[in-house]
Amino acid sequence: INDSWGYSIGNEVLIHFAKLIDRSIKGTELTCRISDDKFLIMLSYKNKSETIERIKVFYNQLEEYFSEAFPRIKIVITGGIYFLKQEDKVLSIAIDRANLARKTVKGTHKSDFAIYDNFLHTQVSKEKMIENRMNEALKNNEFIVYLQPKIDLSSRKIVGAEALVRWRFPSGQILSPNDFIPIFEKNGFVTDLDFYVYEKTLSTLQKWLLQGNPEIIISINVSGIHLNEANFLDRFLGLLEKYNIPPRLIELEITESIFFKELDRLVLIINSFRQKGFLISIDDFGSGYSSLNMLKTLPIDILKLDREFFMWNEMGVQDKIVISGIISLAKGLGLKVVSEGVETEEQVEFLLESSCDMAQGYLFYKPMPVEEFEKLLDI
Ligand code: C2E
Ligand code: CA
Ligand code: CA
Ligand code: CA
Repeated sequence: INDSWGYSIGNEVLIHFAKLIDRSIKGTELTCRISDDKFLIMLSYKNKSETIERIKVFYNQLEEYFSEAFPRIKIVITGGIYFLKQEDKVLSIAIDRANLARKTVKGTHKSDFAIYDNFLHTQVSKEKMIENRMNEALKNNEFIVYLQPKIDLSSRKIVGAEALVRWRFPSGQILSPNDFIPIFEKNGFVTDLDFYVYEKTLSTLQKWLLQGNPEIIISINVSGIHLNEANFLDRFLGLLEKYNIPPRLIELEITESIFFKELDRLVLIINSFRQKGFLISIDDFGSGYSSLNMLKTLPIDILKLDREFFMWNEMGVQDKIVISGIISLAKGLGLKVVSEGVETEEQVEFLLESSCDMAQGYLFYKPMPVEEFEKLLDI
């Protein structure tokens, strides 16, 4: 229950809520308030599906009750169910599990509940395993940097590469960043990991430069979290100095999802990067919160069209209109455009017609270990 309308209404809601609970609770069952807006209800059960039905009825009643009692405010109640087992000894674990299930309830506009089931249990244990092992893994060099070439569409030559992290377990199993970056963004470890990735990438680049190899632009992913870290830029500049890398060889990919708020502040941050000479790209454009306002306001160099645009086997007319529209808009604003996730020649043909500059995708190359990339470029 969100109390944000003020105490008095909040209290009234609580009274209604208490009445409803009272009506649906039997003899030995129990309710208690565990914080301002959280309640614990213990129901006895013989049969899980019957219990779930009972809770459904309760939720329906809640919705009806509140929409009648408070027609002008929206009251949303989210719940999580954990079925206690014989061997459960610690109530707080059960409460944590119910609460974890509650957090998976989709959206915030409709009252609903979720069950802590085997699937969620596996997820949670996987997440715990990842968190338990992350520090050790960093020391063990289990994180490795892959490079995925970016190619110039008209010449089909490699003009750059994106550094993408992988987690290689001692068993040899390789974990994709989608499985651990979101967890590390939540617990803060992403900063340590990213600086490790940056360090590996920059030292590779230094090696190439010392060997007299052609200059190549390397892109790295900058998690939105870093933009709120006051010393990120200084720390990063320190690394560039350490490895003697000119900033013009580094492209910072910033994901679009963080752009939707505080545009003014973001302009300042991005400008401070750009003044140092880095190239700035906006990653995953079109996947989430893009606005055209953002395109004209942000001081960026490159736009990366999200892979989502190219996920269809055959692009429909509408898709083509949207994509070529975005490309011409971006080019009109002086930006370069990279298409991500290009998998077919048909897409290449269309992108060339639309004057897209570069592409990155399985049609050309998958992300690969640094040694493989070096062979490819004959470094
Ligand atoms: P991203 O920055 O959008 O990276 C592109 C992702 O698309 C990569 O997935 C790449 O392997 C995949 N990809 C490229 N071409 C194709 C294609 O033609 N078809 C398909 N199906 N996929 C393609 P990956 O490497 O799993 O990375 C996932 C995301 O994890 C990245 O998305 C990026 O946001 C994040 N990430 C990766 N490495 C790092 C890192 O070192 N630090 C941070 N903060 N995030 C990272
Ligand atoms: Ca990226
Ligand atoms: Ca991307
Ligand atoms: Ca992406």
